[in-house]
Amino acid sequence: MNTAIYPGSFDPITYGHLDIIERSARFFDRLIVAVLSNPQKQPLFTAEERVDMIRDSVKHIPNIEVESFQGLLVDFARIKKARIIIKGLRAVSDFEYELQMALMNKKLDNDIETFFMMTSAKYSYLSSSVVKEVASFGGCIRDLVPSAVENRLRKKFLAKKINNGGF
Ligand code: ADP
Repeated sequence: MNTAIYPGSFDPITYGHLDIIERSARFFDRLIVAVLSNPQKQPLFTAEERVDMIRDSVKHIPNIEVESFQGLLVDFARIKKARIIIKGLRAVSDFEYELQMALMNKKLDNDIETFFMMTSAKYSYLSSSVVKEVASFGGCIRDLVPSAVENRLRKKFLAKKINNGGF
């Protein structure tokens, strides 16, 4: 079976991620969306919440699996018998970091290749952090994330406001 892995933080998933998932899934028997659970980072959503939101957003695509992982991506890829890593590129600013990661992963496991896909132009400005920033100020994010994600973001920031005594 031809398996690829699409890794990321997905905090939360956006239409930019979903576009890469839909376009790349056509070329593989199985695409595993791998949510990085990094205890050193402070994500807005837990790994479990991020996995849930992705599962909810990819229900219409049959050959997708969603899992979280810790540690090295190449180790996870080996366990899953995947030899291809999918990455999305939005701008030149993504390139340097992605090149470094791809070369390091190649050094760690020479059998694993990284495939890069260009963003669709309409999502080239879109990142999870920009979505979180807009949502935190109550801006409209309807065209940026699936509606289930929009609702979760709204709830999350409302809860934060209440906890911080914002009302
Ligand atoms: P971010 O927090 O910047 O959105 P992630 O770690 O969640 O990043 O991203 C996972 C992968 O998805 C990376 O390969 C990233 O370059 C890619 N990606 C994120 N947003 C987009 C987009 N709008 N278009 C194409 N690829 C994207």
